[in-house]
Amino acid sequence: GFPSNMHFITNEMASKMLYKRRKFAHKGTFGHCYLIAGSQKMLGAAILSSKACMKTGAGLLTTHIPAGLQTALNIAVPEVMIDQDSNTECFTQYSSITNYDAIGVGPGLGTNTTTIATLAQLLTDARRMPMVIDADGLNILAYNKELLKTLPKFAILTPHPKEFERLAGSWNNDIEKIERLYQFAKEHSAYIVLKGAHTIVASPDGRLWFASVGNPGMATAGSGDVLTGIILSLLGQGYSPEEASILGVHLHGLAGDIAAKEESQEALIASSIVDSIGRAFKFLW
Ligand code: AMP
Ligand code: MG
Repeated sequence: GFPSNMHFITNEMASKMLYKRRKFAHKGTFGHCYLIAGSQKMLGAAILSSKACMKTGAGLLTTHIPAGLQTALNIAVPEVMIDQDSNTECFTQYSSITNYDAIGVGPGLGTNTTTIATLAQLLTDARRMPMVIDADGLNILAYNKELLKTLPKFAILTPHPKEFERLAGSWNNDIEKIERLYQFAKEHSAYIVLKGAHTIVASPDGRLWFASVGNPGMATAGSGDVLTGIILSLLGQGYSPEEASILGVHLHGLAGDIAAKEESQEALIASSIVDSIGRAFKFLW
């Protein structure tokens, strides 16, 4: 059937979701996130996601990257702790996940055979953890569809339209696209954030939320990696998968709108979105 429960994401809805930080909070209060991202050729994705995660309020972030890239990551984001792979090219192992409150995986990861096997293992190990999966993490799922059966419950998947097509098959029009989205979220008990000019969040129980902010300046390299970091950060802070998806999309779009207003859509790059996250929070508070 076609979904009947649809909403626009408003400022008011997003504002109400914000958790106020308690005076006696400490960094442990805001979660320890684990981001698995980047490969020899795509370190920037790990940097952008890491920065966005910290700027969204994570207490602690450990980022897993291939061996040999730690200096570059640390200079770009001094706040992050680094977990190095033994491999210099890509993701082939990970540390004990019991230390973390949420996991983000995928930006710039590559789709090496060993990476596929390692992701498969991670999905099994992290069955009970809040998780956001993006980019090559999604491509790996699309090329190994049996892995979709092992997704952690209420995992958040953040495909752009091409990635969603690889996962769920193509569509002929927007109605079919939305139907496909609704079915896919139900079938896999996952939150699906289908990105685009009008990003749509689909819940496993058949509700849909449409983004009301964002602009074409955000159609730029690394923009999605920033969203992954934002959503990971919210999950780590204890926001539910539903709140993290909706609030994450709204903060990302607001930050993009603030950046575009200040410096034009043309000059907007993914780093500009990260730099505007603070003003997006201030706008909502
Ligand atoms: P990705 O393709 O993974 O880098 O993600 C692109 C990000 O930019 C997503 O969050 C999209 O929603 C956003 N985006 C891309 N194009 C547009 C657009 N025309 N209007 C608004 N947001 C966009
Ligand atoms: Mg992307």
